[in-house]
Amino acid sequence: MARGGLCLTAFPSLSALGQDVPLVLRRSARAKRLKIRVEANRSVTVVLPRGISDATALSFVEKEHRWVLAQLAKIDAPVPFSDAEMVPILGREYILRHCPDRRGVVSIEDREILVCGQRAHMARRFEDWAKRHIRSHILEKAAEYAEKAGVSFGRITVKDQKSRWGSCSSAGNLNFSWRLIFMPEFVVDYIVCHEVCHLVHLNHSQDFWRLNHQLCPDTEKAKAWLKENGSKVHKYGAT
Ligand SMILES: [Zn+2]
Repeated sequence: MARGGLCLTAFPSLSALGQDVPLVLRRSARAKRLKIRVEANRSVTVVLPRGISDATALSFVEKEHRWVLAQLAKIDAPVPFSDAEMVPILGREYILRHCPDRRGVVSIEDREILVCGQRAHMARRFEDWAKRHIRSHILEKAAEYAEKAGVSFGRITVKDQKSRWGSCSSAGNLNFSWRLIFMPEFVVDYIVCHEVCHLVHLNHSQDFWRLNHQLCPDTEKAKAWLKENGSKVHKYGAT
């Protein structure tokens, strides 16, 4: 059986995918049993132990089609910061436009984000703009919540942290992921409020949550959104 050009759509149970998902068969002397791996780039690898035929591997994929579909559904296609891509900014969708002939750096017109300069610098320019934009939004909201809570904060830093949306240091400095920009405003506000509440309670005690709910009535709605969609913001800017 040919190894090259295999696609999941060749399987009757997976043809509903309607997209070409590459399938790679890989033999491994160390593998103990047949294994299917769904990769982050939406390709599927089947690892074959010694003595297992291609045909057996393929019928295994067919048998496990529900699991494969479920894994594929969890992976979103990456959205690079390039011309004509859609990105949500605080819950509103915008189209990225590369405008080599315009002056300035980044500007918003209607539902378009115009990025000037050379194409090679487009992604970095948009990202720099996005970091400044979300930082100023966070700063404004943090000041608002801090005033209501009767506390003050130190520095606000926007970073590229993967594991946490926000954190609060014992010195009173607040850190946030710049990817908050791809979340709806009510979710960002909850995350900011959450960290400001840590300036009062450096724990997740009942008193902490009481204050959090009091300052941000959308807390539960935002937590549910994060659970369902939080990890999806990592697809933006990925290539
Ligand atoms: Zn917390």
